[in-house]
Amino acid sequence: MYAEIIVDIAVEAVDRVFTYAIPEGMQLQPGMRVEVPFGRMKKEGFVIRMKETPDYDPEKIKCVLSAPDTYPVLLPQLMALAEEIREKYHCPLCEAIRLMLPAQMRGNRVKIKTEEQVRLIISQDLVDEAIAKETRSKKRKLILTLLSDGAMHPLEELRAMVKDVRPALNYLQEKEIIEIVSVETMRSPYTGRVEEATERQLTPEQDEALCEMLPALNRPQKPFLLHGVTGSGKTEVYIRLVKEAVRQGKGAIILVPEIVLTPQMIQWFKSRFGDTMAVLHSRLSAGERFDEWRRIRFGNARIVIGARSAIFAPVENLGVIIVDEEHEQSYQSQSFPQYDAREIAFMRSKREKAVCVMASATPSIYSYAMARRGDYTLLEMPHRILNRPMPKIHLVDMREELRLGNKTMFSRALQEKLDACISSGQQAMLFINRRGYASSVNCRKCGETIRCSRCDVSLTYHSWDKTLRCHYCGAIIPMPEKCPSCESTYIKPMGTGTQKVEEALNKMYPSAGVIRMDMDTTSEKNAHFDLVNQFRAGKAQILLGTQMIAKGLDFPLVTLVGAVMADMSLNFPDYRAAERTFQLLVQVAGRAGRGEKPGEVVIQSYQPDHYALQCAARQDYRSFFAQEFDRRKKSLYPPLTMMVRFLCDAREMETALATAEEIKNRITCRFGNTPLWRRILFIRSDEAPISRIQERARAQVLLKLLNHPDTDQLIAAMQEMAREEYPAHTVLEINPVSLA
Ligand code: ADP
Ligand code: ZN
Ligand code: ZN
Repeated sequence: MYAEIIVDIAVEAVDRVFTYAIPEGMQLQPGMRVEVPFGRMKKEGFVIRMKETPDYDPEKIKCVLSAPDTYPVLLPQLMALAEEIREKYHCPLCEAIRLMLPAQMRGNRVKIKTEEQVRLIISQDLVDEAIAKETRSKKRKLILTLLSDGAMHPLEELRAMVKDVRPALNYLQEKEIIEIVSVETMRSPYTGRVEEATERQLTPEQDEALCEMLPALNRPQKPFLLHGVTGSGKTEVYIRLVKEAVRQGKGAIILVPEIVLTPQMIQWFKSRFGDTMAVLHSRLSAGERFDEWRRIRFGNARIVIGARSAIFAPVENLGVIIVDEEHEQSYQSQSFPQYDAREIAFMRSKREKAVCVMASATPSIYSYAMARRGDYTLLEMPHRILNRPMPKIHLVDMREELRLGNKTMFSRALQEKLDACISSGQQAMLFINRRGYASSVNCRKCGETIRCSRCDVSLTYHSWDKTLRCHYCGAIIPMPEKCPSCESTYIKPMGTGTQKVEEALNKMYPSAGVIRMDMDTTSEKNAHFDLVNQFRAGKAQILLGTQMIAKGLDFPLVTLVGAVMADMSLNFPDYRAAERTFQLLVQVAGRAGRGEKPGEVVIQSYQPDHYALQCAARQDYRSFFAQEFDRRKKSLYPPLTMMVRFLCDAREMETALATAEEIKNRITCRFGNTPLWRRILFIRSDEAPISRIQERARAQVLLKLLNHPDTDQLIAAMQEMAREEYPAHTVLEINPVSLA
């Protein structure tokens, strides 16, 4: 017999199967991992197919060396998915396969954990006799008595009860009365007690959504987009759907953003599904990850909850895929191949006939557009559970505050409400979105943000040379002295950060206690959980933080939420700035009033008239979508087009730029005279917005492509180009999360 094998080398030239002979006595199946000779090296590979006869000279065919596992590590449906990923993302098959295995499995870098166990091997009726006869050693008598129940006993357990147990065991083993075997065990990341959850009556809205989804378990349907406001009880709907799938003997994958995957969330699911659930996220140790993966692969765990890469979990007979907070950027992978977990969810659900549910309080423009076009089925839960009111939202015009002489970062409204909240012993959350490298420039008088004349994005302030730059077309202008629209000289880069706010709060409320959560305070492994738990336990009255605190957290005692600089993210040089600002504000506002007491939200803004803020304040998703989609259509931004970029980095900027220039020229030469050229709306090469990162100079070729069926040919050609050797290291990005 022969096997067609894909060798684990990520080079385009090797992206095909190789035929190997299977030695006598080796049992192989498709999906199994093997070791094979490749050139002069020994390489890992995967069996794709078995064959009776080779298609070339059998004399020249080499033999498979070994098979490290006894089972296929790749399920047939995941092998097929890997093929689909190769087509879709234009990557070598082995890179697609790598996505599906725990990283440490490759090259056997993680070992199976074993434990020694002991049991009797004489028949039950001889046991009593053996115990009676054992008069010379009390230890052996005790061991036999312990083992007389016929069960396997961990050696550790015997050791705890019998001092210096080993010689006695060895003796009994030699006499063939007992055997000591080594048994595989699993590392479990979550032991500890789990509370039993009480079954709740679904609200009519929850029930309706669930009833729409259930039939899809038996009859393949389009994906669902579940648009449910914050606090509408989406999680309960997921749980019911998964329960029904399990009842039908099917499995489920629930994707959540990494940051939302808190111990609290995991406990919640564990309380419903116990040990049949596995958890996959980046904080697990390599060993834990490997064991969770094996529990899934062997069917011990049928429900998987995890971050992005859990979409590749080897769940057999998959019934449900849920993508919670589907608008999150973290579903898009930043490393090659740059897959989007939502896209994979879609591909996988189609192939495996599973129900696919994308859910969010603020669906991405892309998904909502899909739903509107009829590609997804839209389900809505417009109210909070138990008729809890949506929080009351006040939109404060900070220009007005300035006009009245208030130059602090807190408006009078926020100040008053904070005072009241703190003095009545309640909790408040303050959100300040300070992220990124340089801020935009705003006029404090008229609220205008300085924008590029050629693109629909704001300019970015670069402090080292005091210029304003457009990150889309490359325009550079000196920092103006006056506001271009009202001539006020009070124009400034916006730059208040969390630390500055923390200082102010500590002065204002010396005894309230302030917890700050941002990149700087959460760098240690469990800092994030510790801070959250401190706040939940009431150790502080104010939680201050970046977007880290905006999502998923459920603090029932929080009655006031403040967005200190709500429009900061609006000025990021990115066409998605309005979408992200809207999503963030709706999510932030959703943190208020989750308990018995109603919540209030103060949104402070210099651009309160902007539709992203107006719609967020009204919690009006539909109106936001309509305006944003219209703007994208007019300016030809995704989802109507695709942004594609080659990022070239090198030690010297000259090298990086030369490579970018070369790629641009090659694209122009190759497609300039073909019909495909019309799909390229623009192409340019220049320095990347961040021209240097970690001592590497960065240049780019930026393209905007029209979405059209034949655009895929362009992408395929560019993927190929990106894989060639250049003086500068080059990667291709498609609709990247960041264009910095
Ligand atoms: P979402 O994810 O939609 O923001 P959650 O799923 O977090 O909302 O639910 C909000 C709160 O409502 C949670 O505390 C949850 O325990 C509670 N909840 C959900 N469904 C019900 C129900 N049917 N009856 C009572 N409480 C519920
Ligand atoms: Zn102005
Ligand atoms: Zn521009």
